Amino acid sequence: MASKRDYYEVLGVSKGASADEIKKAYRKAALKYHPDKNPGDKAAEESFKEAAEAYDVLSNPEKKARYDQFGHAGPQMGGFGGGGGAYSSQGGFTMEDIFRNFGDIFGGHFGGGGGFEDDFGGMYGFGGGQRRTVNRGSDLRVKVKLTLKEIVHGTTKKLKITKLVPCDKCGGTGAKDKDSYKTCPTCNGSGVETRTVNTIFGRTQTTQVCHQCGGSGKIITANCDKCGGEGTLKAQEVVEIRIPAGVGEGMQLTVSGKGNAARHGGVSGDLLVIIEEERSAELHRDGLDLLYNLNISVPTAILGGSAEVPTVDGRAKITIEAGTLAGKVLRLKGKGVPEVNGYRVGDLLVVIDIAVPGKLTAEERKLVEELGRKPAFSKATSAGSQNIFDRMRSFFR
Ligand SMILES: [Zn+2]
Ligand SMILES: [Zn+2]
Repeated sequence: MASKRDYYEVLGVSKGASADEIKKAYRKAALKYHPDKNPGDKAAEESFKEAAEAYDVLSNPEKKARYDQFGHAGPQMGGFGGGGGAYSSQGGFTMEDIFRNFGDIFGGHFGGGGGFEDDFGGMYGFGGGQRRTVNRGSDLRVKVKLTLKEIVHGTTKKLKITKLVPCDKCGGTGAKDKDSYKTCPTCNGSGVETRTVNTIFGRTQTTQVCHQCGGSGKIITANCDKCGGEGTLKAQEVVEIRIPAGVGEGMQLTVSGKGNAARHGGVSGDLLVIIEEERSAELHRDGLDLLYNLNISVPTAILGGSAEVPTVDGRAKITIEAGTLAGKVLRLKGKGVPEVNGYRVGDLLVVIDIAVPGKLTAEERKLVEELGRKPAFSKATSAGSQNIFDRMRSFFR
């Protein structure tokens, strides 16, 4: 197997390139290798896909950071929902993926030449051989609030979503019946239009998808009476979403094809699920680790004992050694948050504090005063030699 080229090399940019430079470089490569410019050229198609893959990674800060750190061996990002991958083929992108995902980069240079955009999404040209355009439904965004327990273990959520679905009466075509079509008068049924354009290089002929029929060669003469010709209807749908363990606030999961249906049939948009974390009163999340502040009594600090701490799965008993100092951190291995798409699991860090009582009764005061005169209590020296700064330093090292 040929080794994969470096993404920066593919786009011809330096490692320090800005987002804008990366976008410009991709645009240049995409225009150069676009299938419309290189019909039937397999090598150009491969370069086109290679550039799209490089841009997909380098234009996404999260993926870029992983790539910068791990290179091609890095764990794949974006593999949520839709059967374990944002892209349908394992070895990279299909042409459909590229036009779906990076359609905006072409800024109207390709495709239907404008005039056919609908309210629910854009139009995307499909390259390679057969020329046609496909409507794409718009993406839908939903927020999902998760508890710490759901984040640690992963969960499945059923979301009720109001969205556009294909009309059941016309099957999404928007036509009244199968006889409600006639041959498109603009292209005479060929689906393509040839235009002659005057440029500085002389007159050139360009072939475009027919603006009237969108490449189908047919136009509708009578609209479906249920959807009014749109091909879509508003409906509620319950979508089940598998949320992997380890997600975090603001993370976005993509469920392919679960967004709005397209007008007149086509590719449905995606459902974008945005994660929100429900704050836990006791456990504070710090990346993969969880922090818990545990107050112990003065006698427990001196003599040792046991205490209970909350974990994501109920309470855990921990042992407090005799001579435990404030600021000591006990680490409960593996009781934190797992890495999303990774193998590491965080820990639960129990940070000890010693509770010093406020108001004392006369008797308590007398006992403490008496204790204070005893040799072990009369000097301000702790068990062990480290002071609090050394302890913190050795922990955070
Ligand atoms: Zn036409
Ligand atoms: Zn209909």
